[in-house]
Amino acid sequence: MTLEGKTALVTGGSRGIGRGIALELATQGATVIIDFHQNRVAAEEVVTAITAMGRVCEAVQADVGDVAEADSLVARSIMLTGSLDILVSNAGITRDALLVRMTDEKWNDVLRTNLTGTFNVTRAAARHMMSQRSGRIVLISSVVGLGGNAGQANYAASKAGVIALAKTAAKELGPRGVTVNVVAPGFVETDMTSPLDNKAVSSYLASIPLRRAGTPGDVAKVVAFLASEDASYITGQVLVVDGGLSL
Ligand code: NAP
Repeated sequence: MTLEGKTALVTGGSRGIGRGIALELATQGATVIIDFHQNRVAAEEVVTAITAMGRVCEAVQADVGDVAEADSLVARSIMLTGSLDILVSNAGITRDALLVRMTDEKWNDVLRTNLTGTFNVTRAAARHMMSQRSGRIVLISSVVGLGGNAGQANYAASKAGVIALAKTAAKELGPRGVTVNVVAPGFVETDMTSPLDNKAVSSYLASIPLRRAGTPGDVAKVVAFLASEDASYITGQVLVVDGGLSL
């Protein structure tokens, strides 16, 4: 499995799962553009780590929920590397609340970043990949998008939407040689899950047959596979990476 000579854009590549994906794609030989929203220091740390591997990496600041910024992010990635072979739409946020207490602001913020942001970068990348007649698009959803989760109506709806978006895009882009797949992680220890208290973490761990939290690397290996030539006959699929949590 190798991504030598391939160029990739990873949104939300500055921290957590996106950082792990950027490092793994670079390890497999890809030139990687990482997008970040606010955390420039973290993004530059990823660039330094990838550059130290002897690979090319650049960080670009863009809010994926803003259509103009998402379009220019994709255009800039193509300008910096000369092409775009792999898009990983990973940027995401949570704003948890029970349904009856969910504010419009929390609902809109999460849908804007997780679903509209994914649509924005997928559409921009698809335009390029269709004319190139090749490409790999991997969208990061969540097991919550499959099964729901109390306190996460906004997040669950956004992640279910990502799955429907991927299946539709797979049907539209397949004839042009572009695959679109989804990776749905379970419980992964990152900044996103760090606010969970010990009780909630213990309850997750007790429900995971493999009895451990996932790591960004667990998810990244699967993304790298879906981005590789080895996965060339897989499209429109949801690969759950959760240690059995959703069984
Ligand atoms: P994280 O540690 O909080 O990192 C989030 C990343 O997204 C950061 O790089 C952040 O950039 C970026 N980001 C946030 N809003 C953005 C925006 N509007 N535009 C561009 N980038 C933005 O989260 P994570 O746990 O790694 O999660 C990554 C993805 O995996 C998300 O889609 C999440 O829903 C999904 N996921 C996570 C888990 C889990 O257990 N952790 C489980 C299932 C699915 P800055 O650094 O600049 O803020």
